[in-house]
Formats: sequence, C-alpha cells, structure tokens
Amino acid sequence: MTEKLGFIGLGIMGMGMARNLLKAGFDVTVWNRTAAKMGTLAAEGAGTAATPAELAAQCDVIFVCVSDTPDVEAVVLGENGVIHGAKAGSLVVDHSTISPIATKEIGAKLNANGVHMLDAPISGGSEGAANGTLSIMIGGDAAQVERAMPYLQAMGKTITHVGGQGDGQMVKLVNQILVVGNALAMSEALVFAQAGGLDLEKTFNAVANGAAGSWMFSNRAPQILNRDWRPGFTIDLQQKDLRLVKGTADELAVPIFATNMVFDMYRTLQKAGLGGEGNHALIKALENLANVTVGK
Ligand code: NAP
Repeated sequence: MTEKLGFIGLGIMGMGMARNLLKAGFDVTVWNRTAAKMGTLAAEGAGTAATPAELAAQCDVIFVCVSDTPDVEAVVLGENGVIHGAKAGSLVVDHSTISPIATKEIGAKLNANGVHMLDAPISGGSEGAANGTLSIMIGGDAAQVERAMPYLQAMGKTITHVGGQGDGQMVKLVNQILVVGNALAMSEALVFAQAGGLDLEKTFNAVANGAAGSWMFSNRAPQILNRDWRPGFTIDLQQKDLRLVKGTADELAVPIFATNMVFDMYRTLQKAGLGGEGNHALIKALENLANVTVGK
C-alpha cells in the first residue's frame, strides 16, 4: 500500500527532512505556519495544505517537527490541529524534542481518536537533516515503528526503537546531556589553546580524530575558528532542551552538574541577546570570563 505522507514544520530540520522524503519518491504534503516556507518544496513537487487538520485529512502518516511542547500541542491538538482531521488508523510521528510526559498525554489523546503516535526525536544537526543521516530515537508501538521505517530510512541513518511512548524523548534528553558536555569541553579546550598561543588549525587537526574527537568538535570547532555563529541549533532551542533535562533530572533526583553549569552559561548569552546564535557560541561565555578571543 502506498501511504500518503504529511510534514508539519519546515524549519532548519523539517525542511531537509521533508525534502529527503520527496527525493525518495514518496507522496508528500507539507504545512508550515509561515506559509512562504512551503514554496520551495512545492516547487520540488510537494503538495501544500491550508491547516494541519486539512493536511491530516489527506495523509496516512503525519510527521511533525516544530519547536517546543506547546507548539506540538498547538499543531496536533489545537484549533485546526491534526486531531481534527486525522483518519482512524493514521500515524503521527513527532520529531520535535519535547517533554516526555506531555508526549504521553498527546499520544493518549490521539489514541482515543484511533490515531497512533510515535515519539521520534532526532539528532545530527542541520547537516544530518539535509543529508538524510539523522539519528532517530523512537518510542512507541513496534508495529507502527515497522510501518514508519521506510520513511524514517529516507531521513536518518541510525534508527533505534528504544522503548514505549515517551522513551524516545527520554533518550533524546540523554543525547542533549552529551551534546552540551561536548560543547563545554570544546569551548574550554579552544580557549586554553588560544591562551597558550597555539596554531588553532594545527591543534584541531592533531586532536579531532583521536580519542578526544566528537561530532561537536569536528563540525563546530571550524565554525568557531571562523567566528561563524550561524545556527545549526540555536542557543534558545538548546536551552529549551536543557530545561527538559533539568525538570526530568529533578523528578528522578539525579545530579547533573555540567548540564546545570552550561544552562547558566547559555543564560548569560541569552541575556546578551545571542539566543539566536548557534549552540557552539557557548565559547563566548568562557571567552568573556577569560578575556580571551578564540580565532583572532
Ligand atoms: P526552527 O528552525 O526554529 O523551526 C521551527 C519550526 O517549528 C518552524 O517551521 C516553525 O514555523 C514551527 N513552529 C514553531 N512554533 C510553532 C507553532 N506554535 N505552530 C506552528 N508551527 C510552529 O527549529 P529546528 O532547528 O528545525 O528544530 C525543530 C525541532 O527539532 C525542535 O524541537 C528542536 O529541538 C529539534 N532539533 C533540532 C536540531 C537542530 O540541530 N536544529 C537537532 C535535533 C533536534 P515558522 O516557520 O512559522 O516559524
């Protein structure tokens, strides 16, 4: 059976993901709040819908990739939301990073209408979305994971069914603890290197592929050296994820020393009006403290 696909949310991530579904030959209809962003994909063969409900009425599997918990609630459960158009038996796959608890609540409301849901948050940055190499961590029913697999394979490379509803979001929070820890290590190391008068390019080449290497270091250190703060992932969205980590860690009563520290460092950058910059701009918080500027 050929299923019709819908994609809601054509941001930094959603645009590349929806494009990869189209490129793989699937029938894709898109909706984005800022309608102008639908134009590019429409020119590449996507259908467009006037509302999420209208999109859902036309589609069997509906992918969502919007910013935060209230935004998923708005496009799925709100006025003109997916729930008002979705056919019984259809499937919602949420790629946004949102609260694991809210995920279960949204899933229960969809289930009550005969609609399935998977939480399938993503990792791999804007590059991963564009290249179809995302890591996708999925919570929900195994039969629905199997159903979604051909579509997920068009968008991602490492696709892991990690558990029941909400567990995908929990694993994504694990991912975010690792991301900010790596960003902190990268920032501290580059400030140290700069203060020591090292050739930063040579330093980068010497360590990037050894035991100290990381995706963060390989992809974002070169941006830092060029003082290029364009976001693959914005500080504001990073803080949204850290809030989710902090809330969940509080519930679980586990300490998250480094994550809490990075959250406060990002807060100083948000205060300075830098929330729209990439999460690698974390280094600016350390530069401010050390009175060192990296790469200049
Ligand atoms: P983005 O570029 O800021 O795009 C956000 C998208 O959500 C836009 O399409 C936006 O519509 C839409 N949106 C936000 N609030 C909405 C609302 N209330 N109603 C309808 N649409 C709404 O964000 P992104 O980087 O693509 O991130 C999307 C999700 O993926 C987030 O949960 C993020 O945490 C996660 N993620 C991002 C990355 C990354 O590296 N960027 C990596 C992994 C996971 P408009 O165009 O109208 O603003």
